[in-house]
Amino acid sequence: MAPSTYKLAFIGLGVMGDPMAGHLAAAGHGITVFNRTTAKADSWVAAHGGAKAMSPAAAAKGADVVFACVGDDDDVRQVALGQDGAFAAMAAGAVFVDHTTASATLARELAAAAKGRGIGFLDAPVSGGQAGAEGARLTIMVGGEAAVFASAEPVMKAYAKAVTLMGPAGAGQLTKMVNQICIAGLVQGLSEALNFGARAGLDMDKVIDVIAQGAAQSWQMENRAKTMIRGDFDFGFAVDWMRKDLGICRDEADANGAALPVTEIVDGFYGRIHQRGGGRWDTSSLIDLLANPDGGE
Ligand code: NAP
Repeated sequence: MAPSTYKLAFIGLGVMGDPMAGHLAAAGHGITVFNRTTAKADSWVAAHGGAKAMSPAAAAKGADVVFACVGDDDDVRQVALGQDGAFAAMAAGAVFVDHTTASATLARELAAAAKGRGIGFLDAPVSGGQAGAEGARLTIMVGGEAAVFASAEPVMKAYAKAVTLMGPAGAGQLTKMVNQICIAGLVQGLSEALNFGARAGLDMDKVIDVIAQGAAQSWQMENRAKTMIRGDFDFGFAVDWMRKDLGICRDEADANGAALPVTEIVDGFYGRIHQRGGGRWDTSSLIDLLANPDGGE
């Protein structure tokens, strides 16, 4: 079947899901969306066409591929297996692709539940943030069976620059954990550096332009450093989602014996940002603890 003939469902039109579903519609697929808060589904349909369903099951009925991008393990379980969940409505041979960042344990559980129903399951967390979703430049790390991956990969390319099968069920989520551990330490280092430079009286826009050309360069520096020095955090990847991700990493490390000393400290810092009322701030808000040490907790 050619990708342009796919019938798709998309569950969860948040910061990430809304633009991802938009790219699928723009690629010419027939798409039915479900969002818990109905108003978001209404505005998505007004912008992109397609249809709105009132439950995950109603969206998934008759779909070749069902995508989800919700919050955490419990949310995925609910939209997949709960009352009016997608799995029960999916036909044998259909595929459920979970773009939520969740645990590897959940991925294995859902892969087994899907197999029992004759449907395919891929854990497919993403990296690249809101800008990556909007610009169709996400990196997708996938766990699952090769044949299932082959059927869904061409569809995911509508919003990805790279889609890679990492291994069996759970391998996508484990790869995303590696990604989040990298980011936690990196954002703290960037915060300390920018705060140091500002307190030293340097022109920080100029500093960033210069050092972004050298060995300190990173995605976080390119996409976040200038908003960090302005204290602008009202966008992007929410602190509370990062705390969820780092909790998943810490649980997995408890099981595999990996030490995560810096990640644990940074997780505590994100807890303090939450206490400041920054649960929905972008993860680059770590710098607020240094720039405003007495602020708000
Ligand atoms: P978001 O803006 O908070 O959107 C979450 C979406 O999930 C909303 O549509 C929400 O519905 C829906 N949802 C949550 N719980 C649900 C439930 N129990 N039943 C039905 N719908 C539910 O989050 P996001 O930033 O798009 O992130 C989504 C996922 O991608 C998270 O796992 C996150 O960790 C991951 N992620 C995010 C980024 C990023 O930069 N934002 C980057 C990589 C990965 P309502 O509209 O009703 O709240």
